[in-house]
Amino acid sequence: MPVGPGPRPTPGPAPRYRGRFAPSPTGPLHQGSLVTALASWLDARAHGGVWIVRMEDLDEPRCVPGAAEDILAALSRLGLHSDEPVVRQSRRHAYYEQALASLTARGLVYPCGCTRREIADSLVRVHARHRTLAYPGTCRQGLHGKTARAWRLRVPDGDAARIRFEDRWMGTQIQDLSTEVGDFVLKRADGQWAYQLAVVVDDQAQGMTDIVRGADLLDSTARQIYLQACLDAPTPRYLHVPLVLADDGEKLSKQNGAAPLVLDTPAAALVALKNAAAHLGLPASLGTLSHGDDFLAAATQAWRVRYGR
Ligand code: GLU
Repeated sequence: MPVGPGPRPTPGPAPRYRGRFAPSPTGPLHQGSLVTALASWLDARAHGGVWIVRMEDLDEPRCVPGAAEDILAALSRLGLHSDEPVVRQSRRHAYYEQALASLTARGLVYPCGCTRREIADSLVRVHARHRTLAYPGTCRQGLHGKTARAWRLRVPDGDAARIRFEDRWMGTQIQDLSTEVGDFVLKRADGQWAYQLAVVVDDQAQGMTDIVRGADLLDSTARQIYLQACLDAPTPRYLHVPLVLADDGEKLSKQNGAAPLVLDTPAAALVALKNAAAHLGLPASLGTLSHGDDFLAAATQAWRVRYGR
């Protein structure tokens, strides 16, 4: 019988705030990613905490050569410096392997031989009336002659599947992993580690107490909270900031025309920071400051007043 996560450890005294900005180096920093970088930096500073940059460079087909260095150079021009050496996920395969092995040993993981096409077909059959996109658990009981392609985490059924958390910006969130997500992938069919596994392993290894990131990842958070429980990792606090949208209504990205930030002068960097602060709802009075350091100090104070819980 598969075993679920054990009881959560009793919390001790609150650890010192540790937060991060975790860009995927798929292109240069743009106004959308700057909003996330700035929000995570301000939240860490407002709490007297540590802010670390982590390069999420695992998805080899999507990573662009040189993008990681471009992002780091842009952050530096903006005055946002990682307090600890930058961590690169591409050097951490052994830790993901270890986590997968420990979950497998506990009967929580199974191989899946479904192709995307097969999953789409069975979803239409099984879930057409419910309009959900949850993986229907086809390979839960075995591969039935298929070849293992991906590795999936079993999610619980019933009440245990309902994950509830308080997002500091978005409020109470509830997701039923069983009906809304299904058993999710930890290692992909192309051999790459899934974002969900790597992010949970690294947030735990780096002792992250607070996650501040874009609202596109709100939907991944319940999966990560469940995975934390399975790996006996503490659950950090979460704050998801509203996305910067492109003209097509989608998250601003390289694909829909996000322009790389041009930060060739301190004045240009200051304008980019001011635009990001305005998106985050910080007071317009910040717009009058004319020096980057003064701006960051005042923005930290403004963030503390608004979101400093
Ligand atoms: N690497 C992810 C991204 O660039 C962010 C991951 C996270 O903050 O959890 O969208």
